[in-house]
Amino acid sequence: MIKYDVLIIGAGIAGLYSAMNLPENKKVLVVCKDIPWECNTFYAQGGMVTALDENDIPLHIEDTMIAGAYHNKKEAVEILSQTSLDTTSDIISRGMEFDTDENGNILYTKEAAHSTGRIVHAGGDATGRYMHYFMMVQNKHKLQRNTLVYDLLIEDGRCYGVKALVNYQHQTIYADDVIIASGGVGSLYEYNTNSRTVSADIHGICVEKGIELRDMEMMQFHPTVFVKTPFARKLLLTEALRGEGAWIVDKNGRRFLFDYDDRGELASRDIVSRAIFNHKRETGEDAYLDFSMFEQKWFHNRFPNITRTFEAIGYSFPKDRVPIS
Ligand SMILES: Cc1cc2nc3c(=O)[nH]c(=O)nc-3n(C[C@H](O)[C@H](O)[C@H](O)COP(=O)(O)OP(=O)(O)OC[C@H]3O[C@@H](n4cnc5c(N)ncnc54)[C@H](O)[C@@H]3O)c2cc1C
Repeated sequence: MIKYDVLIIGAGIAGLYSAMNLPENKKVLVVCKDIPWECNTFYAQGGMVTALDENDIPLHIEDTMIAGAYHNKKEAVEILSQTSLDTTSDIISRGMEFDTDENGNILYTKEAAHSTGRIVHAGGDATGRYMHYFMMVQNKHKLQRNTLVYDLLIEDGRCYGVKALVNYQHQTIYADDVIIASGGVGSLYEYNTNSRTVSADIHGICVEKGIELRDMEMMQFHPTVFVKTPFARKLLLTEALRGEGAWIVDKNGRRFLFDYDDRGELASRDIVSRAIFNHKRETGEDAYLDFSMFEQKWFHNRFPNITRTFEAIGYSFPKDRVPIS
């Protein structure tokens, strides 16, 4: 019988950070259904938000509530903000390297709808990849790939294990505690920016078992995605581009976001997404992300992966503007 103290379903940031914080003398298994880096964490670009210091917490909470149009659960936002200082310093003290200036000061980027810069980033525009790699290295517990969980074993309201396909063989894995860290539902959409592993399997199992899911209508439609590729997974252009000053323009170069919100390109994501959608529907024309205000060397250093990815499909940044959805 295969039995663990703790089984963690998912090897993205949620699963790996849980594993990092479980004592080494516990028998822990982290599973993921594909290769470990096939997860949304790996694809995250722009950065991680954190309160700047104790004094910043009330404003960070307020900014987050505004960005969420007050649909947020205040208690959850408070926990997020209050714990962000410890979490950020914890991973930095364990060796995570965020981008700094020449004097070693951490660089912060501005997030849409926030009043000040609070986003830490790594590798320019490869924050998720750097954090995922860091946590893979930090994790001292067993990580098992190609393990597709397809059933939760539940008795008297308690989950005591799972059924899984491990390298295409059926296996039952028992555990005293099971942590579900299997991500979201994004790749259920015909076109999306998510990893193919993020396909709501565990949500589906929960529905079958009568386990209540909450707030499933709260789906993020991230603005500024390049959709003119033939693949289901489309290319996101991180919000950090707008945080640093990129514009959203119509075909004549007009910044039409100000027709919708005084904050322009830094209005909250729901407003920016709706504005682009409306603009395209009403005019029948494309909307573009414009980087022409940036100096080339700075742009290539700050956004090296976006520069390379788009170069491969014929765009030269920051000179070229790119059609977005
Ligand atoms: C393109 C893109 C850019 C983003 N940029 C940012 C950003 O800049 N800043 C930010 O804060 N957020 C960003 N996000 C969101 C962020 O990436 C996610 O919120 C976060 O990574 C989710 O982490 P997670 O550990 O919950 O899930 P994931 O990292 O998606 O991991 C899910 C894990 O669950 C496993 N799994 C799923 N189903 C099963 C199953 N049935 N059996 C076994 N294993 C299973 C998967 O294999 C995977 O290991 C971005 C997202 C995308 C898609």
